[in-house]
Amino acid sequence: MRVANLAGRAVLVDGTADARMIDVAEASDGRFGPDPQSLFDDWAAFTQWAASAELRDGTLVAEQVFGAPVPRPRQVFAIGLNYAEHAAEAGYPPDSMPVTFTKFPSSIVGPDVVVELPEGHVDWEVELVVVIGKKAHKVDRESAWDHVAGLTIGQDISERITQLQGSAPQFSLGKSFPGFGPTGPWLVTSDEFTDRDDLAISCSLSGEEMQSSRTGMMLYDVPELLVRLSAVCPLLPGDIIFSGTPSGIGNRRTPQRFIAPDDVLVSEIEGIGTLVTRFSATASQ
Ligand code: ZN
Repeated sequence: MRVANLAGRAVLVDGTADARMIDVAEASDGRFGPDPQSLFDDWAAFTQWAASAELRDGTLVAEQVFGAPVPRPRQVFAIGLNYAEHAAEAGYPPDSMPVTFTKFPSSIVGPDVVVELPEGHVDWEVELVVVIGKKAHKVDRESAWDHVAGLTIGQDISERITQLQGSAPQFSLGKSFPGFGPTGPWLVTSDEFTDRDDLAISCSLSGEEMQSSRTGMMLYDVPELLVRLSAVCPLLPGDIIFSGTPSGIGNRRTPQRFIAPDDVLVSEIEGIGTLVTRFSATASQ
């Protein structure tokens, strides 16, 4: 099933070409929703109800602009250097622990937003985003996927000067300007994928392909990330994990390339869809 955020209300979306959607709160007589974030409080009951929901008479999805499928995560985890080729281009050896930082929740937005570029070198990082559906503390690999509500597409947009200045990198700050965490267009539950552990992932900037890989190339796959993160922090329902980016970032291209005003960033993951992000110039002070 696919769950989206339409103007702050949870909607169930049909995955077919003639996609239709229904308002969760209306269709469930108020049992679930309308706040998309509240679905994660009782995700198992919600998915059980949603499996029997009738989408045929819903509204057409075409031309709708959705918000972030997880609008207010309590914790946002982000993983660096999780693909070998990206670790190599970034100049780091693969680590014995997933390199972990946060994107502060104020940076999280939905699809089809216009991000105002701050001063500096703004770069792209397409990532698979994992959404937690059940509290996970000290989980093992075998049960890890049972704690996942679903997957969505994310961009870990990064301003490289802020990120890399100083004697120790400022990953969390450099990746948390307003709008730097586009997500969406919807959450797709993991049962929808033929192979949830190996999905094509790519992004293009104004029509030129910049990144193309498969999530099966991750050094730490989704179960391993849940094992390692939950060994320290309890992962809470409605938390999200940006799982790392493949090679092809602008900072390591020759010549370097960064996002310019009017660029269009299109991010794709197999079985989820397309996330479009636009940009505008720095507003004058
Ligand atoms: Zn990243």
